[in-house]
Amino acid sequence: MQVQINDASLELVQGDITRQDVDAIVNAANSSLLGGGGVDGAIHRAAGRELLAECRTLGGCETGNAKITRGYQLQARHIIHAVGPVYADGKHGESVLLASAYRACLELASQHACASIAFPAISTGVYGYPMEAAARIAFRIILDYLAEHPEIKLVRYVLYDARAFQTHVQILEELLTQ
Ligand code: ADP
Repeated sequence: MQVQINDASLELVQGDITRQDVDAIVNAANSSLLGGGGVDGAIHRAAGRELLAECRTLGGCETGNAKITRGYQLQARHIIHAVGPVYADGKHGESVLLASAYRACLELASQHACASIAFPAISTGVYGYPMEAAARIAFRIILDYLAEHPEIKLVRYVLYDARAFQTHVQILEELLTQ
């Protein structure tokens, strides 16, 4: 699925974030920035050992924020390591923190001249954020940002499995018809 916002595109694809040929891919990291499971483990394996060495110099990252590194063996020039919230019950500021993590990634992309960026569904794995609610937040932030920042030409939202992909298509269609 593809949506046009001025000169920019928002694409939804099913696939593996580590294999995306974009300027920057986003990692769903934890606050240590020293690797983990899920997307984080896959990105560290694909980028190689040098990534961990650079991450060690960063001093971690607060929830709701993001930090940028080189991409090493990935096709992507940069990796933006975003720390989404662990979902408790939705009453612990999770939505604000998730929105802030997405915004921080887009701002870093702009600052580092990354015209194309690929996101995974941050916080929806081990961190337990309900997927529909997370998707609404992610798309709202991305669509608002693209409308105001013409330097970003492509946002690709990458869903790992078919069910996640279908859910996201449905949510985006809903948002666009509102
Ligand atoms: P978090 O700890 O932020 O929840 P996870 O890595 O556990 O992060 O999962 C985030 C989302 O990324 C989940 O929906 C998961 O299915 C998905 N995912 C896992 N591996 C990949 C991958 N290689 N590419 C894209 N998405 C992935």
